[in-house]
Amino acid sequence: MSISLRFYNTLTREKTAFAPIDPQNVRMYVCGPTVYDYAHIGNARPAIVFDVLFRLLRHVYGEAHVTYARNITDVDDKINARALRDHPGLPLNEAIRLVTEKTETQYHEDIALLGNLEPTVEPRATDTIAEMIEIIEKLIGNGHAYVAKGEVLFDTKSMADYGQLSKRPLDEQQAGARIAVDAHKKNPSDFVLWKLSSHNEPGWESPWGRGRPGWHIECSAMSRRYLGEVFDIHGGGLDLIFPHHENEIAQSRCAHGTEVMANVWMHNGFVQVEGRKMSKSEGNFITIYDLLHTEKFGGRQWPGEVLRLAMLMTHYREPIDFSVKRLEEAERLLAKWPAAEASGATPCDTVINALADDLNTVAAVQALHALAQEAHGDPDALAVFAASAAFLGVLPEKTEVDEALASAVDALVALRLEMLKAKNFAEADKIRNELSDKGIQLKDGKDPATGERVTTWEVKR
Ligand SMILES: [Zn+2]
Repeated sequence: MSISLRFYNTLTREKTAFAPIDPQNVRMYVCGPTVYDYAHIGNARPAIVFDVLFRLLRHVYGEAHVTYARNITDVDDKINARALRDHPGLPLNEAIRLVTEKTETQYHEDIALLGNLEPTVEPRATDTIAEMIEIIEKLIGNGHAYVAKGEVLFDTKSMADYGQLSKRPLDEQQAGARIAVDAHKKNPSDFVLWKLSSHNEPGWESPWGRGRPGWHIECSAMSRRYLGEVFDIHGGGLDLIFPHHENEIAQSRCAHGTEVMANVWMHNGFVQVEGRKMSKSEGNFITIYDLLHTEKFGGRQWPGEVLRLAMLMTHYREPIDFSVKRLEEAERLLAKWPAAEASGATPCDTVINALADDLNTVAAVQALHALAQEAHGDPDALAVFAASAAFLGVLPEKTEVDEALASAVDALVALRLEMLKAKNFAEADKIRNELSDKGIQLKDGKDPATGERVTTWEVKR
């Protein structure tokens, strides 16, 4: 393997060479969406960042040798609330199903339009309840969890090195804890693994009664089921480091008795909108759907590849400011690139090497732009550009021209050729300019056999 990958690992706070546990099956887990509402632009970032990583791993280790699991969180109190609000007349289970199915379908549509491949597996929390119960039983059995007041709680003090990922030692957390300590918790940082459900909350039978899982346990269960007790990469947004990922690690390591849950932890930076934290109260809460299909952001719709390129123009660990200006910048860059079709050429090494260095998409996009500039008029270079752009998921699409327009243009091009033959240059130029105003570019050449002038045309992007 000539390409060596280096990634920044949140666990060690260092950028180190990546060596998979099993190169025949490189395994990555990324926390997916909670399906109760449209995905916002902050949800788009990890989907795009880890899609690029997935593509890179497939390129290096082979498509059949990478397993990417991204979950769907379909049990959550926010889902229950939405189900009750939107479908008050229906039995809760049915209402929940309507909310989660609709949101999941929408998420898939949005994410696909942003140029993302489907993950290898997309487990649902509600399909993994049995595994969650099994892990919780193990944790109770080995003294890392306890039952109190209808809840099963993880005993954070039972884990000597709890807090390694977020670098928040327990003592510090307790000293700084200002939230009221729930009386039934042994330690303020203990968290819920299982809680009892009332009759109007969704629930599953368990050794501790009909209840539902806490949020963190689902990822421990789904990752173990599809990737094993220890796997290569765990990803997600920076905001998930604490408590979510810290607690996933605590559960998995204490249940399985392992040194780590995943070897490499990768986190993407925050997303702001027009320089401010995105929130519904700020009025700058923007969904992927809004960007793609409405005129709510900047008074127009934005193509998926513009949104994707705008994301890739910032390194994944940096915060990103999502703004109209940034989208326009991405669009201008895309417009300079030739439309092409990926034809099986290999992506350029410069692009791959940039990504191999901790997913440096900024350098990769620069390399792609350089390729685009070289590619004009050179079919081999164009093929490499197209393969590289397709690899990053930002290949400009060939503009479809409808037949009526095409035959009208053909007729004008033929007329211009007649004018040129008749040496009526003024009229010929007039036709060329008229077509140019309509975005049609003419290219004159010579038929190598007859030496006669031939004119081709294309639609300018
Ligand atoms: Zn998770």
